[in-house]
Amino acid sequence: MNLRECIKTVEDRIQTAIRRSHRTRDSVTLVAVTKKFPPTVMCEAYSLGLRVFGENYVQEFAEKHTALASLADAQFHLIGHLQSNKARQATELFHAVETVDSEKLVRRLNEAGKPLEVMIEVKLSPEGAKAGAPPEQLPGLIQAIRTCPNLKLTGLMTMPPWNPDPETTRPFFRRLAELGRIHQLPKLSMGMSHDLEAAIEEGATHIRVGTALFGQRPKA
Ligand SMILES: *Cc1c(COP(=O)(O)O)cnc(C)c1O
Repeated sequence: MNLRECIKTVEDRIQTAIRRSHRTRDSVTLVAVTKKFPPTVMCEAYSLGLRVFGENYVQEFAEKHTALASLADAQFHLIGHLQSNKARQATELFHAVETVDSEKLVRRLNEAGKPLEVMIEVKLSPEGAKAGAPPEQLPGLIQAIRTCPNLKLTGLMTMPPWNPDPETTRPFFRRLAELGRIHQLPKLSMGMSHDLEAAIEEGATHIRVGTALFGQRPKA
């Protein structure tokens, strides 16, 4: 399948899940995950209508960034772990950082002095992603972000332990949605290529999709 066909297939899957859960299409943002893919692929995706891109590494995206200057209304989200010593650079490159998980990082992002949308990455299991804040740290982190004039906290993000069966990841999505309700955070970034339907059914507002759009990532 070429990129146009892959986008169509993903869009059909989103529509099916949207209908099943009685939601509207505009309540779900497709974040196209382009780590390891060159700017040419991102430009093609843009020309086919994609507008929100997810990148994992500050350094990699810094190198691609200048080649993307013509994508005027594209939005770039950092979805990989962010070290606080790269916080300033991240605020210059990204519109949103989805992976805030420590008060130190919160301070550094705010000190950079640029308005930035942030989400808190929540670690819901000892397995899986090493990064993320455990749920019990949420109240403190939320409080810390809300005192920062440059940061706008919009939601929660999670990355469950990888499992091919979406019914295994569904409870993690449900838990993140519950935490979003408890803390009154409307946005939920959850669900990837293989489990985006379950994520949408559980309330995802942002699904992060790489492989289903672009195929296997280049190894290098
Ligand atoms: C790579 C990545 C994705 C995309 O995963 P696919 O299975 O390729 O869709 C989503 N979220 C994060 C945090 C990632 O690192």
